[in-house]
Amino acid sequence: MARESPSMFRSRLQQLDTQSLTRHLHTLGSATGPTIQLAGRTVILLASNDYLGLATHPDVIYAAIQATTQYGTGAGAARLVCGTLPPHTELEQALATFKQTPSALVYGSGYLANIGVIPSLITRGGQIFADRLSHASLIDGARLSRADLRVYRHRDLNHLESLLKRTPPGRPVLIVTDGLFSMDGDLAPLPELATLTQRFGATLYVDDAHGTGVMGQSGRGTLEHFGVEDRIPFHMGTLGKALGSSGAYIAGPTDMIQYLVNTSRPFMFTTAPPPASAAAARAALTILQQDPSRRARLWRNRDHLFAGLTRLGFHLTDSASPILPILIGHAEKALAFAEQLLAQGVYAPAIRPPTVPDGSSRIRVTITAEHSPEQIDLALSAFERAGQSVHLL
Ligand code: PMP
Repeated sequence: MARESPSMFRSRLQQLDTQSLTRHLHTLGSATGPTIQLAGRTVILLASNDYLGLATHPDVIYAAIQATTQYGTGAGAARLVCGTLPPHTELEQALATFKQTPSALVYGSGYLANIGVIPSLITRGGQIFADRLSHASLIDGARLSRADLRVYRHRDLNHLESLLKRTPPGRPVLIVTDGLFSMDGDLAPLPELATLTQRFGATLYVDDAHGTGVMGQSGRGTLEHFGVEDRIPFHMGTLGKALGSSGAYIAGPTDMIQYLVNTSRPFMFTTAPPPASAAAARAALTILQQDPSRRARLWRNRDHLFAGLTRLGFHLTDSASPILPILIGHAEKALAFAEQLLAQGVYAPAIRPPTVPDGSSRIRVTITAEHSPEQIDLALSAFERAGQSVHLL
C-alpha cells in the first residue's frame, strides 16, 4: 500500500496553489521538435532551447549511437577515477578550437558548471556582484563560494560601478552575469562589463548558455557578438541548448582548466557524462560550424515571430534573441494565457516566481530554426485568439 505523505507537504503545496505557483510535469508523446505530441494532440512547441533543431539531427543521433556502441551507456566513474573516455577529450578539444581558447572542460550540466566554477574563482572574504536576473545556478554557485553576494540592477552599469567604488581596495571581486538572459532574451553589456572589470581589477564570469550556437557571426556566442573574446579570457556555455545534447563547458586558459580538474567538486565527485552526450555535442558542433544556414533560418524565424507579436500589440521584453517573452505580470493571468494558447494549439509555458521576479510573470516564447513560416503564422493566429480571450489584447 502506498504511504501517506506527511501533511506538511500538502499544506505547502496548497499554499503555492493559492498563489498560482504550482508546477506540473507534462510528459510529451514525442521528441521536442517544432511540434510535439501532448495529451494526444499535435501542438506547435514554442518552449524549447534546442534553437538549431540539432537534438533530432540524424548525424547527431548517429554519433550518440556509435559512441554508445563503442563505449557503453555510462562512463562508469568520475572523470578522474576512470571515466575519461575519448568522446570527452575529443569534445573538449573541439570546444577549445571552436571557442579559440587554449583549453576547455566539460561538466555534466550547466548547473553543475556554475556551482563548480564560481567557488574556484572566489571564496570567503571576497565580493561577488551578480546581475539581478542572473540564472539561479550562478546565484547558487555564488552562495556556495561563501563570498559576499550583492545583486546589481539588471544591466545597470551605473549601479554596478557605484558598488565597485564602495568595495574596499584589495578585496577580491567577481562579477557574474548571463551573456544572453534566459528569461528576458536580452544581452548583458559585455564590452562595458569588461571595461569595469579591468578598471577595478575584478574578474568577470559570463554564463553564455543561451548565446552559444545562437549569437555571433560564427555562432561562438555573445562574446563573439560583441567582439570581446580577447578581453574575457574564460566563460561558460551549455551543450543542452543550441548544441542539442546535454552538459556544459568552461572554455579558458589551460592553467584554469587544470585547477578546476583538481579542485572543482561538481567535476571531481560526479560520474562523467555519458559518452553518447559528449559524442552528440561534438557532432552538433561540427554541424554548427559547417552549416551556417541553420543559424540564418533561426534568425529569419525569430524576426518573423517578433514582427508578428509586436504587430499584435503584445508587451515584449527588450529581447535581442530567439527568446521572445510576453510580459503579463500576475502569475494567475500568465497561467490563464498559457492555457488558452494550448487550447489554440500552441505550447509556450507561463514562467512565474521564483524563476522571474514577483509581478513579472510571463509567457516565455522561443523559436527554432526548424519551425516553418506556416507554423509561425499559425502560432501568431493562436496568440491573437488567446490574447483576446484573456483580455491581453
Ligand atoms: N545557465 C543558464 C543561463 C541557463 O538558462 C541554464 C538552463 N536553463 C543553465 C545555466 C543550466 O544549464 P543546464 O540545463 O545544462 O543545467
